[in-house]
Amino acid sequence: MTDLSVPHTVRAPRGTTLTARGWGQEAALRMLQNNLDPEVAEHPEELVVYGGSGKAARDWPSYAALVRTLTTLADDETMLVQSGRPVGVLRTHEWAPRVILANSNLVGDWATWDEFRRLEALGLTAYGQMTAGSWIYIGTQGILQGTYETFAAVARKRFGGTLEGTVTLTGGLGGMGGAQPLAVTMNGGVAICVDVDESRIRRRIEQRYLDVMADSLEHALDLATEARRARRPLSIGVLGNSADVAPALLAGGAEIDVVTDQTSAHDPLAYLPLGIAFEDWHEARTSDPTGFAKAARESMARHVEAMVGFQRAGAEVFDYGNNIRTEAKAAGYADAFAFPGFVPAYLRPLFCEGKGPFRWAALSGDPQDIHATDRAILDLFGENESLTRWIRLAQEKVAFQGLPARICWLGYGERDRAGLRFNELVASGEVSAPIVIGRDHLDSGSVASPYRETEAMLDGSDAIADWPLLNAMVNTASGATWVSIHHGGGVGIGRSIHAGQVTVADGTPLAAEKIARVLTNDPGTGIIRHVDAGYPEAKAAAAEHGVRIPMQEG
Ligand code: NAD
Repeated sequence: MTDLSVPHTVRAPRGTTLTARGWGQEAALRMLQNNLDPEVAEHPEELVVYGGSGKAARDWPSYAALVRTLTTLADDETMLVQSGRPVGVLRTHEWAPRVILANSNLVGDWATWDEFRRLEALGLTAYGQMTAGSWIYIGTQGILQGTYETFAAVARKRFGGTLEGTVTLTGGLGGMGGAQPLAVTMNGGVAICVDVDESRIRRRIEQRYLDVMADSLEHALDLATEARRARRPLSIGVLGNSADVAPALLAGGAEIDVVTDQTSAHDPLAYLPLGIAFEDWHEARTSDPTGFAKAARESMARHVEAMVGFQRAGAEVFDYGNNIRTEAKAAGYADAFAFPGFVPAYLRPLFCEGKGPFRWAALSGDPQDIHATDRAILDLFGENESLTRWIRLAQEKVAFQGLPARICWLGYGERDRAGLRFNELVASGEVSAPIVIGRDHLDSGSVASPYRETEAMLDGSDAIADWPLLNAMVNTASGATWVSIHHGGGVGIGRSIHAGQVTVADGTPLAAEKIARVLTNDPGTGIIRHVDAGYPEAKAAAAEHGVRIPMQEG
């Protein structure tokens, strides 16, 4: 028998045979294991799933204890997980979550990376990111869909609902930034994507995220101009430094309609400055990190200045969550915040309606089960054009990683309908095993993150972290199968608090009751949070759906 407490290859069981005592426990077990499947996790041997050091369990002995406990846990018990380690089992009841998790949380004054790393080195905590430590990561599909949705919102705001006949300029073809070219072409547009690392460009072409690599910047522009004229989607990779390419394109009067960036600007050692050759990157940042970071910030200032130049020339320009504006400002470029972050610019109106990244996975491991759920979504929401286009394109272009899964943005009044339909599919045998239904922590009511999801809230409540805590407690009270509260996901320690929930559709009437409540109340907290901040779209959504807001009554 495998010794689970030492590094080994993990893969979730498939099929309908239970290894645990109920489907709630089995679902948590399989999703924990799925997060660590080498097809899914970036560094499974270190229990790292994605996002820097985002872990599914604190260490291998903790992993072994999680598996052991989930396998023996009863239907009226709840396991407590403290930063990736199971610390207790308590008697609860069948409506209670089977697992409650708290990951990476620190008291305010102590909430710095240095203190976190100190405690981590002592073995006292682990970084849970968002869906790594809450066992609902589904691979790059999640990033692709969010990026697709952002570009769809850009298209709606500025270009009549499609990116056809437009050119987007961006930088960074790394793990997450590599989703940009496909997201742009899925919306009908042309993308020029700059990266300093040729191997990243080739990797995206191999994985079918990027169409072609240009021989030079001129070649890239020629290809883009021709595709734009023909209103043909095309993504073009070009080797270069964005701090050089963006100012050059601006100076040359290139016709660019949308500009953004996903180089790793959040970490100045991961952004290559001008004047340092790609081959010398590693040596330069190791021998003189301070000098390197200063040079990187100065280059970011040139890069951001060009982005602002494009904005002034009429392009749609936005920060894509990499903190490049802050770094450019630190280097002395005063206008760095002239363009907005992507959440206030495009996603907040969706958050106001309780819309966000809804996702699910088939515990059977059978892709046919996801195809059945895809059909159910198309049947339920056929009138939603961008949603149906996404589902069809995802079926064609997205390869499953680990257990087959799907993601799409649904809002209040939609998620519960989808969840209940999935539960019926399980009950009738149209899908062969239960479906787990969860979401990202980047959602309408579940996150406080002033540099990203809650940047520039209407009432200035960006840093108020009561909302994700309320969200987690609401989901616990409503019947979710596992619920989590995390700190530091996305933007780092000290900068965010966020919550997750996962609910299992096992085909039973009890699951239907839980699904109806959780998948209504979870997006409901999003509407409530945005009504409280004063958004008219949220007030309209609350009125339309009958969400009660005490301060607006009486
Ligand atoms: P990554 O490190 O895998 O990739 C970054 C890429 O940028 C690399 O391929 C690198 O070669 C390239 N690069 C570095 N300096 C460059 C320069 N000067 N010019 C051109 N290319 C350069 O990182 P990733 O996972 O793709 O994430 C990228 C950034 O986007 C991060 O800052 C991340 O936090 C942010 N991000 C935001 C969201 C969001 O929700 N908006 C989602 C994902 C990632």
